[in-house]
Amino acid sequence: MAIIEVNNLKKVFGQLEVLKNVSFSVNPSEVVAVIGPSGSGKSTMLRSLVHLEEANGGSIRIGDQYLVRDGAYSNAQQIKAMTSRMGMVFQHFNLFPHLTVKGNLELSPRLVKGRSAAEVSRMSRELLDKVGLADKADVYPSSLSGGQKQRVAIARALMMNPEILLFDEPTSALDPELTGEVLQVMKRLAGEQITMIVVTHEMGFAREVADRVLFMADGEIIESGTPEQIFGNPRHERTRSFLNRVL
Ligand code: ADP
Ligand code: MG
Repeated sequence: MAIIEVNNLKKVFGQLEVLKNVSFSVNPSEVVAVIGPSGSGKSTMLRSLVHLEEANGGSIRIGDQYLVRDGAYSNAQQIKAMTSRMGMVFQHFNLFPHLTVKGNLELSPRLVKGRSAAEVSRMSRELLDKVGLADKADVYPSSLSGGQKQRVAIARALMMNPEILLFDEPTSALDPELTGEVLQVMKRLAGEQITMIVVTHEMGFAREVADRVLFMADGEIIESGTPEQIFGNPRHERTRSFLNRVL
């Protein structure tokens, strides 16, 4: 069974229909890349999954529960249970500047999950090691490069043991020479059990790492398929013209 199922999701901002009838599903451990022009609704779609945006219609199922079903949202407690299964990594890192790297990682598991200091300390050491930043535990974010900040943000998301990781253009704010270190960490994660949805402009990453690619334009999923199919033999003219522009 799919771990995420989205059906006819709709979102409007004022007069603007940002998500028209978005439907897709994601299987456990699958890596799905979402590509498409700026303004096509990719961030809104991702933010809807973690209830940072409320949809105006449609359904989102996470596991065996509905976050929203035919436009009706579950109660706050159920929503929290569902969104806590997901972690999100943003374009602009969103690290807490007044906390050290270790402090950034340990805050939520302490506050939200009530884990012990010893336990979160062990976890943060392990995860910083995993993203190649074992020596940065005690520094403040301001002393890190963009690529290092984003790797901290990924480690911080992993501290909550999410089953699903959502990435919203994680490398778009980085200098080109820093994107590789972040993509490499993501690629390593993709090889693990975790389910990933990655909104990205990195076509090389989508092609190499994703199991499936969704192409969005104007609030709709125009086309979805394997990387080979989308990049090698796109069915829709809009997919073709988008890829011609970005590749
Ligand atoms: P993408 O991530 O694909 O660039 P977004 O989901 O950010 O697209 O935005 C889709 C459309 O919705 C854009 O036209 C954007 O200007 C609009 N939009 C996004 N967030 C808001 C908001 N909070 N209020 C009004 N319009 C918004
Ligand atoms: Mg966006």
